[in-house]
Amino acid sequence: MSAEIICVGTELLLGDILNTNAQFLAQQLANLGIPHYYQTVVGDNPARIKHVIQVALERNSSTQDNSTQVLIFTGGLGPTPDDLTHETLADFFGVPLTEHQEIIEDITRKYAARGRKMSPSNRKQALLPKGAAILPNPGGTAPGILWQPRSGVAVLTFPGVPSEMQRMWQETAVPYLKSLGYGQEIIYSQTLKFWGVAEAALAEKAAAFLNLPNPTVAPYASQGEVKLRVSAKATSLEAAKQIIAPVARQLQEIGDLNYFGSDEETLASAVGKLLTAAGETLSVAESCTGGGLGQMLTDIPGSSRYFWGGVISYDNAVKISVLGVNPDDLSQFGAVSAIVAEQMAAGVRSRLGTTWGLSITGIAGPDGGTATKPVGLVYTGLAGADGKVQSFENHFGTGRDRALIRHVSACTALDRLRRLLKG
Ligand code: ATP
Ligand code: MG
Repeated sequence: MSAEIICVGTELLLGDILNTNAQFLAQQLANLGIPHYYQTVVGDNPARIKHVIQVALERNSSTQDNSTQVLIFTGGLGPTPDDLTHETLADFFGVPLTEHQEIIEDITRKYAARGRKMSPSNRKQALLPKGAAILPNPGGTAPGILWQPRSGVAVLTFPGVPSEMQRMWQETAVPYLKSLGYGQEIIYSQTLKFWGVAEAALAEKAAAFLNLPNPTVAPYASQGEVKLRVSAKATSLEAAKQIIAPVARQLQEIGDLNYFGSDEETLASAVGKLLTAAGETLSVAESCTGGGLGQMLTDIPGSSRYFWGGVISYDNAVKISVLGVNPDDLSQFGAVSAIVAEQMAAGVRSRLGTTWGLSITGIAGPDGGTATKPVGLVYTGLAGADGKVQSFENHFGTGRDRALIRHVSACTALDRLRRLLKG
């Protein structure tokens, strides 16, 4: 068996809404271990919907096994003239629509419960392809269908409204798919996260793992973070975890200090754990990130144990008056310089009385860059209890926008402290 997801709705094609139904269903199919190779988005147009069904059926007949193909539709079940999914399915498979009295009664009841009367257009929702079973919609008016229009093909339809679709999926579709023998195997993934290494470099080091059949290992990268997703297919969660564990361990070793955690772990939560374990505290001084570093740290519940606060020293006057940065150094080396980053870190550490002081000063762009100090030049400063102060020069410029430079700057600052705490 394999499944295809077909999302109907012109608003999806126009980019008005994000196709979260496809994401939900894809995750669910993976959990059930149902192979899923194609997704389609199509507008509210009967000819194109029929073409999509045709193509999907041809894809299945060209595969080796001719086992059941499940076509999962969302959207287009409503009462308005542009809601055409059931009509079009009936037409495609050459069956008439039949009216279901029990659906009309159900809709009438639901309207009455809200003190309203069902409108004539709602009758349309009671018309289902002949032979299709009702897939009840407890959260709304439009029911879906469960239908085997011909041997080897199963059709499931859901309304577009995500909350209705999800409830119908859990309550009716999952038991149905399990009754067909699916969901005996699950797919479980662990995502290993790395910072400070390029995707290609990590993929090269992990090359021997990238062609494994079970678990599979796939690299991803976004916003400076590199990930290796390790996915196992097994008959239980425990078995999947056992398959993943030895491979994950070896990949962590390959990543060495660049590995900072898995799944929900962030650089901020990893730093938080290390500070908590050491009984140490942190304060921050931010210029170009404008509080972004503090936000990342305080996103973590319980961060008040180790994160005491920070100063957004955007203007030089604040760097001087609040953090004690030397005005002569500011005018000689500029606000974006190693020495100012160091003085910001040392200043916030001593004024707030924490173990560590972490600072960021840089040029996030798009304006403000010069030949010697281009957009993306960012210094991070790190002051410790031993009185030692250090700084790091970073070049985040090429091709990155302001938001990304600020994000990567905050992450890199956290990563500097993480490495120091680990090392
Ligand atoms: P209704 O009875 O509300 O008309 P419907 O089954 O006809 O439901 P649509 O009209 O296609 O479904 O969509 C209803 C609403 O559901 C949309 O306005 C949109 O907000 C949401 N929706 C539709 N499709 C998707 C999708 N693929 N992902 C996320 N949301 C969606
Ligand atoms: Mg609709």
